[in-house]
Amino acid sequence: MGRFEGRVAVITGAARGIGFGTAQRFSEEGAAVAVLDLDEAAAKDAASRLPGQAVGIGADVADKASVDAAVERLVAELGGVHVLVNNAGITRDNLLFKMSEADWDLVVGVHLRGAFLTTQAVQRHFVEQRYGKIVNLSSVSALGNRGQANYSAAKMGVQGLTRTLGIELGPFGINVNAVAPGFVATEMTDATAARLKLDVDEFRRLNAEHNPVKRVGEPADIAAAVCFLASDEASYVTGQTLYVDGGATLG
Ligand code: NAP
Repeated sequence: MGRFEGRVAVITGAARGIGFGTAQRFSEEGAAVAVLDLDEAAAKDAASRLPGQAVGIGADVADKASVDAAVERLVAELGGVHVLVNNAGITRDNLLFKMSEADWDLVVGVHLRGAFLTTQAVQRHFVEQRYGKIVNLSSVSALGNRGQANYSAAKMGVQGLTRTLGIELGPFGINVNAVAPGFVATEMTDATAARLKLDVDEFRRLNAEHNPVKRVGEPADIAAAVCFLASDEASYVTGQTLYVDGGATLG
């Protein structure tokens, strides 16, 4: 029997990349899965490729009405909600002096406001049932990364949110943790390669050299950590950020 048999997991930004890899793992381990993403058609397509019960729902995590409607819909369609993975994300990199207010607001809005709104929407269900697991996606960029003032601030903000919600929600049987990936091969990092005018494989090879295990991460590496933190095996772990980065931040 899978670790998530009888559970419903909602994963934001799960139409592709780390989110889809995580949705696959939850589905393989028995969860019913709600794939949330900006584009409902992409979300439905991703849901249709999962092995177990799944729904795809279009939602913008930075918009309260959209998030509230999506959560109510998935609860109605899948019969409840037990796990939330705040994964939706974007980058709009630039050096501070060239960064627009719009790009600051957009990135902070998706990562931080998005995690806040989605967590607020599910917490009512989690508190009522005295059970819930929340895993937030941070990043090694939280520790500082040239050209990512907006993203870095948001990702360190996610760690503060995780610690605070760990304190507030722990008494209600809710665990809140974060995973901070290093470089993972997805469309997000492919887009960075394109912006830097580098070949994708060359960019991955260069990044693989920057950690002790000498490879880049795959979505499955992050999914494994997320699923551990969302499982009952991790019920004594809360408020923590687990770096899954091949040792890149070891110094
Ligand atoms: P990705 O391939 O770009 O996928 C992100 C997904 O989120 C896309 O499907 C995107 O939809 C969706 N999304 C964007 N804005 C959204 C919104 N407002 N509401 C709902 N969905 C939205 O990214 P990834 O590499 O898998 O990254 C997943 C998470 O891991 C992000 O939080 C990212 O910051 C974090 N992370 C990634 C890496 C890495 O190396 N890849 C490293 C550290 C942390 P659209 O395609 O429609 O925009």
